Amino acid sequence: MTEWQIIEKYFAMIPVKRDDVVLGIGDDAALLHQHQQQQLVVTTDTLIAGVHFPENTQAFDIGYKALAVNVSDLAAMGATPAWFSLALTLPAADECWLQAFTEGMSSLMQPYQLALIGGDLTRGSMAITISIIGFLPLGKGLLRSQARVGDDIYVTGSIGDAGAALAYLQGSLTIDAALMPAALQKLNRPEPRVQCGQALLDVAHAAIDISDGLLADLQHILQKSQVGATIDIEKLPLSTLLAKQLPRELAMNLALSSGDDYELCFTADPLQQTQIQTIAQTLQLTITKIGKVEAMPGLRWVQQDKAGSFHRENIGYQHF
Ligand code: ADP
Ligand code: MG
Repeated sequence: MTEWQIIEKYFAMIPVKRDDVVLGIGDDAALLHQHQQQQLVVTTDTLIAGVHFPENTQAFDIGYKALAVNVSDLAAMGATPAWFSLALTLPAADECWLQAFTEGMSSLMQPYQLALIGGDLTRGSMAITISIIGFLPLGKGLLRSQARVGDDIYVTGSIGDAGAALAYLQGSLTIDAALMPAALQKLNRPEPRVQCGQALLDVAHAAIDISDGLLADLQHILQKSQVGATIDIEKLPLSTLLAKQLPRELAMNLALSSGDDYELCFTADPLQQTQIQTIAQTLQLTITKIGKVEAMPGLRWVQQDKAGSFHRENIGYQHF
């Protein structure tokens, strides 16, 4: 197949049609209609085989996740995702792989009506780069820099599951396979918290999505906001797997330091507590208060009658 035949067969045919795409795939560039009273929100994320997912990951899951991690970045801004481009580098044009990959991507495009507006196709070691564009009303957005002293710190869903699944796949966690489907689902098909981010726009101060682990990502909020925090280890939202099946110490370490959960961590004024519980009920999503923003820089923990500080070596995955 020629390059263009592949693009036509697998990428130009995905049936999401938006009125604001004036010209999609097929020309030198796409043309997009600009909306009144909205600002554009843009982000890019690359997934590399062997770094961001195990080499033997199913093509469907790779397609899903490459898009999901980008959608998650927009969710953490409170934005509504709309358009994306796809730069795909593949070792070979394997049609079965391409079919499953686009099905995975498409399964997330449909519910959010995300249009694929262009991209690039090259040969090389497998890498997937997606740039996604969304909208925010003018002047709005959940920034890392907006946490305030006295804010409560919250986390959506449960954390540590994707890390447990990865450890299981890599052979460092030995556990009954029957216990793993839910955690594997979290690793391979994370659900970007788009509705939650949007609902938090006038409620939360700062937000981030947890891609590198709670400690690493919360520290980004603290540094950008020039504040510190204390979190209560006992309050960390653990799945049944982590709470019931894993040794306590391991479960805590996974919840604090493993990445790939794509839950949101955000801060909000204590007066918003009721509103946040209403959002949780409406979205049928657990939202757990885990700590407080403080003036003293650094990140500290309490656990029953013990207390301490986290140090730099606790922070998450670093590429360099
Ligand atoms: P050019 O050489 O002008 O960059 P290409 O041949 O790379 O053009 O691409 C032709 C058209 O196909 C462009 O509109 C481009 O955006 C689109 N395209 C290329 N690769 C992809 C892809 N992986 N997914 C979606 N669209 C793609
Ligand atoms: Mg090109």
